[in-house]
Amino acid sequence: MSIEAGTLFVVAAPSGAGKSSLVNALLEREPTISLSISHTTRPPRVGELYGRHYYFVDRDAFEKQVAEGIFLEHAEVHGNLYGTSGTTVQALLAQGRDVLLEIDWQGAQQIRRSKPDCVSVFILPPSRAELERRLRGRGSDSAAVIERRLRNSREEIGHAHEFDFILINDVFSDALDDLQAIVRAVRQRSALQWRRHETLIAELVAP
Ligand code: GDP
Ligand code: ADP
Ligand code: 5GP
Repeated sequence: MSIEAGTLFVVAAPSGAGKSSLVNALLEREPTISLSISHTTRPPRVGELYGRHYYFVDRDAFEKQVAEGIFLEHAEVHGNLYGTSGTTVQALLAQGRDVLLEIDWQGAQQIRRSKPDCVSVFILPPSRAELERRLRGRGSDSAAVIERRLRNSREEIGHAHEFDFILINDVFSDALDDLQAIVRAVRQRSALQWRRHETLIAELVAP
């Protein structure tokens, strides 16, 4: 990977922890990050738009795309298929853009294998009761879907230690500051800065 390539950020969380709210707020503060739009077989929620929240496809189309090898990663989550198409993500990274994936822990494991330089963040709710309250309060899913997501959250959280960072989303604005701090710190890593500021460093060390 060229040192000028962008950074790939991976964000995961149990459903309802606040991942999408935090990511959307982060993108307002850091507009140079590109959010990858996933493909999914999940039906759209009220207000969700094709190409903005997801590329909504049926199972046959998704499986055909898997066979064609278009996905950088894909996984079955809560009974639906989700996948990240490789073309756009690779092109953006090659242009030096930072890219953020909102994916589950299984997808994160696949990305770590193919892109070991990625930076991964797992978001936890402050308590089980609050996770449940947020999932129900969001009002986007049926009771059965909420039960399934709550059941699955235990296994998902069991994978949090595989991530570079674990963030607790208790007070939203604090969690957002922490997420932004991670992004900003990663951008100052010396391997990147050494190349980016070659001219400055040469000038500073010149006799
Ligand atoms: P959410 O819990 O409100 O984000 O509900 P969604 O139905 O939008 O997503 C359910 C799960 O699928 C979450 O854990 C997402 O991170 C995950 N997910 C979304 N897109 C992808 C993807 O492209 N790949 C993988 N592996 N997981 C995804
Ligand atoms: P996810 O993408 O992880 O499933 P969402 O971003 O949809 O989660 O958040 C789930 C619900 O919790 C939403 O209704 C959101 O407004 C709310 N929420 C997110 N973060 C907080 C927070 N820190 N405090 C209270 N409510 C929050
Ligand atoms: P969005 O990130 O899409 O603007 O916000 C979606 C929802 O997240 C809001 O309607 C609100 O319910 C929740 N949210 C965002 N910020 C906060 C916050 O600071 N505190 C709380 N309690 N909820 C928040």
